[in-house]
Amino acid sequence: MASSKPSTPSLSQHRPGKILIAFDFDHTIAEENTDVFVRRLLGPEGLPAEIEAQQRSLGWTKFMGAILQHLHDKGITSNQIRDLMQRTPLTPGMDVLLRYLHEKHHVFDCVIISDANSLFIWWILHFTKLEGVFPLSSIYTNPARIDDTDCLRIDFYHHNSTCKLSAPNLCKGRVLQEHISRMKREENQEYRTVVFIGDGLNDYCPAVQLAETDYIAARKGYKLIEKIKEDRSAVEASLVPWTNGKDLLDFVQNLEKTFPLYVPQLVT
Ligand SMILES: [Mg+2]
Repeated sequence: MASSKPSTPSLSQHRPGKILIAFDFDHTIAEENTDVFVRRLLGPEGLPAEIEAQQRSLGWTKFMGAILQHLHDKGITSNQIRDLMQRTPLTPGMDVLLRYLHEKHHVFDCVIISDANSLFIWWILHFTKLEGVFPLSSIYTNPARIDDTDCLRIDFYHHNSTCKLSAPNLCKGRVLQEHISRMKREENQEYRTVVFIGDGLNDYCPAVQLAETDYIAARKGYKLIEKIKEDRSAVEASLVPWTNGKDLLDFVQNLEKTFPLYVPQLVT
């Protein structure tokens, strides 16, 4: 997504190009899949078979809505769901990585592009005191709310009918492109390079959209890295396999050395 040409400093360049780090959330920032983790509140009897059977026909987001409705019907409160989410472990080393990126906010912009939902993500970031890393405008996910009956409701982030690699409720590649365009238009920010960090098959769409000068950081042992390796020529970006936040911290610190920031000097 970044130009392959070396950047030419000019006085019209209001700010130096930063590095965009786009994070998936489940199995990336959070060690668990939050949508699966919340099922712990179902108790030993689990999900009724008639709801489980609807997974395919409903699609994932509406299926999650049915699970949350069932939890509500069982008397589980939104506070109980929040308390459980706050016990969701982060991926090891991820807090150190995120605090480092936040300290270096003049170098890195961070966004989350996730098929979880806004409440789960917010509760976890808030509890781990990482909410400052991600302004609300940089979290792209399915909007969630607590309705008047204390039941959690999740809506689609948007409606996707064109990208076959993505779910109907969220095309991560489109979101990434829209973020980059918006930053260029509104903030005069052109990224030098883009890093997408993820694990799952729904991270494959942004992976194929990245340019040769970008990076796809795919977690070892998960499906994204297998999919990329099936046809390496389909993804132009450099592949960065990772296991934990320390691997990613080493990578971004090296990247920082590769991309020293241009600071305009006024000639007098
Ligand atoms: Mg994931």
